[in-house]
Amino acid sequence: MTGPDPLPGPHEGAWAAFDALVAERLPQWAEELIAYLAIPSEGGDAASLADAAAWTAARLARAGAAVEVIALDGVPPLVVGELGEGPRTITAVQHYDVQPAEPFELWTTPPYAPHVRDGRVWARGATDNKGEFLPRLWALEAYRDAIGPLPCRVRFLVEGQEETGSGGLDDLLDQAPRLREADAALIEGGGLDLNGRPGVVGGGKGIVVFELFAKTMAHDAHSSLSVLLHNAGHRLIAALATFWDAEGRPAIAGLDAGRRPPTPAQLDVIAAQDQQDLADIRADWAVERFIGGLDGVAAMEALTFQTTLNLQGLWAGHTEPTPKTVTPAEAHARLDVRIVPDQRPDEVLAAVRRHLDAHGFADVDIRKREGEPAWWTPPDHVVVTTAAAVSTEVAGQETTLGVSMAGTVPMAQVCARHRVPCTTLGAGRADCRAHAPDENIRLDDLAAAAKMMGRFVAAFARLPEVPRVP
Ligand SMILES: [Zn+2]
Repeated sequence: MTGPDPLPGPHEGAWAAFDALVAERLPQWAEELIAYLAIPSEGGDAASLADAAAWTAARLARAGAAVEVIALDGVPPLVVGELGEGPRTITAVQHYDVQPAEPFELWTTPPYAPHVRDGRVWARGATDNKGEFLPRLWALEAYRDAIGPLPCRVRFLVEGQEETGSGGLDDLLDQAPRLREADAALIEGGGLDLNGRPGVVGGGKGIVVFELFAKTMAHDAHSSLSVLLHNAGHRLIAALATFWDAEGRPAIAGLDAGRRPPTPAQLDVIAAQDQQDLADIRADWAVERFIGGLDGVAAMEALTFQTTLNLQGLWAGHTEPTPKTVTPAEAHARLDVRIVPDQRPDEVLAAVRRHLDAHGFADVDIRKREGEPAWWTPPDHVVVTTAAAVSTEVAGQETTLGVSMAGTVPMAQVCARHRVPCTTLGAGRADCRAHAPDENIRLDDLAAAAKMMGRFVAAFARLPEVPRVP
């Protein structure tokens, strides 16, 4: 980036004071995280979600944020907290809900009895997302106390439905459309690999989840009648058999309609990535060969840019250990499609519908469960490269750039309307076991995440310009 420095940045001594304050406050921050993690705010647990929302709002208020809680029937509230002044705004997109903790027996210590052991905090939500949200807020407090007033506005959007698909987020944001106006957005967290090397990406894939439902008769039948009556399981299997080719590649015409071809800059980023990941996947899952014989850069590109079509599960008839001579009347399958810019969930479902109709399965119903578009910021955008630069500075190792997370984050709902650029930032470790038993975060990584946030805010405020996503 060239151009003038409109604002002087904090000097070397200021960062030393900031880092010293981070170290000094870390023990009390850990206690605070532990209190937050003790709230079992799993999706569907309305009382605990309300407790977590109230805790979040109170904590933001204690930091001096202007707090607003946006409520709608049937959706956990969206907690909004805004700090700082200045011509630019960063939106930090977080969540206070957590994944279910079961199976409990696989946890070394109970998921909602958080504590520090071996330099880490252990609990459900330790990284995802309570332990990624709080360091960002702590960083702003430490910045004010060690350096001075915040150089820009930071708006926290903390939702309670992220782990179950963010289905209400668009409606919540529609209650206050100004919440979508920002110059940049931070995805909920960021990553370090096992060696502490940071990775930064500019977005996440979207997702469409749907069920197929076949019904062939009024109710289940004695299997002696199967010579006359259509089995719903057969019907569903026959339909599914047309969804992939013999190799396992999606065979639905138009499934990737609207997909933007990768740009040269994106392809360069993928080509520069470490292909050790592919070897790790082969070793971890004990497979010799990938679908279609994919390998090398082509496999890395497919992971990022390809629209997926995955069968999550299927169920029909009697599946208990003892036999039962029954012919099922109903059969179900659940599938997910990971999508990329500029695909639209409804167009994906329309392609599946057309495919079923064209193959003689007009009777097989599609039931939509959730749909979120993808939102990607180019990897050479200044918001992404700034996040990478501050991550490198704090971690002391060169940051790896990527194009997109493999998973889904609700950035399209927040960013797409005004084409706001976004990036990951933070220190969630590759072995943090997010979504799994024994979720944890290192105390050192809480400190690293706070240091990255402080530096990001300072660097972001000084950027000569922050372009919109093209
Ligand atoms: Zn999360």
